[in-house]
Amino acid sequence: MKRFAAILLALTLLLAGCTVPVSPTPTPALTPATTSPIPLPTSGGDVAESNIFAMDTVMSFRVHGENGQDMLALIANAINALERELSVTREGSDVWRINHAGGESVTVGEAAAYLLSLAKELGDSTGGALDMTMYPVVKAWGFTTSEYRVPSGSELSGLLEHVDYQKVETEQKPADLGDTYVTLPADMELDLGSIAKGYAGECAANLLRENGVTSALLNMGGNVQSVGSKPDGSPWRIGIQDPNETTGSYLGILQLVDQAAITSGGYERFFEEDGVRYWHIMDPHTGAPARSGLVSVTIVGNKGGLCDGLSTALFVLGREKALDYWRTYGGFEAILVDEDNNVWVTGGLKDSFALVEGSSYTLRLVEE
Ligand code: ADP
Ligand code: MG
Repeated sequence: MKRFAAILLALTLLLAGCTVPVSPTPTPALTPATTSPIPLPTSGGDVAESNIFAMDTVMSFRVHGENGQDMLALIANAINALERELSVTREGSDVWRINHAGGESVTVGEAAAYLLSLAKELGDSTGGALDMTMYPVVKAWGFTTSEYRVPSGSELSGLLEHVDYQKVETEQKPADLGDTYVTLPADMELDLGSIAKGYAGECAANLLRENGVTSALLNMGGNVQSVGSKPDGSPWRIGIQDPNETTGSYLGILQLVDQAAITSGGYERFFEEDGVRYWHIMDPHTGAPARSGLVSVTIVGNKGGLCDGLSTALFVLGREKALDYWRTYGGFEAILVDEDNNVWVTGGLKDSFALVEGSSYTLRLVEE
């Protein structure tokens, strides 16, 4: 069962690679914010580093080896180009055109087409825990503008009538060189924000690999994408943010080689009202912040886009369903932190994750 499901998922995900429209956007210099997961310092060797602001996040990149500056420019351009295609707010992006088409069909580029199929697949396999049409609900809570508010129950149930990823229709027309046509009912809006950053990291890593880079670390605000290992051949060391502490303190260390580690946490974006904390990861069944008992979910795997979608979806599902999902589909590993200070770590990370010394958390290894 597990293998069959994994093969099915892998098949669809193999269909699209990373296609990145190239453009000459310059790279602004910014100071990096500390984010989670936190790459721990390495030293020595031929290294080039840069920071850019893209996809609503400060990203910091480190590339070892020759041509580092060229490689940094290459990936910054690629990520900026993806943002122009995938941003929900940028006029003229693929996502913007879908949302403003008044129910008519529009053609989209390969990146949007791939992410729409990934979002649909994750919606199906998680029972709707990931729903790309949650955007109106996310807006109503103020997470798109930082003008936070708690919507009433009736407002939320009204909005949820316009939420259902299954109504997103995509069609490929071979006669039009395989263009993808997307149709969304006029009273709905979609957003790929829960998977786009992970996908951008995946594409950037592939670009670096294609250009011969064997050692690089891309930190994209809660998402870490690694290429190869550290220059000395040892694994990258990634700090997993302690969800109960201020940004920058970590509860454990993950060793990572050539993979993505992507975290969704309730501490990342939230507001408080009357002593209650409301965060930006929403349960599509209630229209409210997901209260599953988990406070952070880190997914480790080969495909950043998939890991990003899973980090959001498994946060919504909660520990038991998340681990069932892992047992059924496999193909990734997970670190789940619950509100009782347990850290549930799937078997494949047995030798690559450890709590920091003297931790107040309890490590619970999960075997199949
Ligand atoms: P971040 O973008 O902060 O790294 P996530 O990858 O977890 O975090 O994505 C969260 C974003 O996705 C939210 O800001 C919101 O726009 C959107 N979102 C929230 N809940 C869901 C959901 N259940 N399904 C799809 N998208 C969601
Ligand atoms: Mg995500």
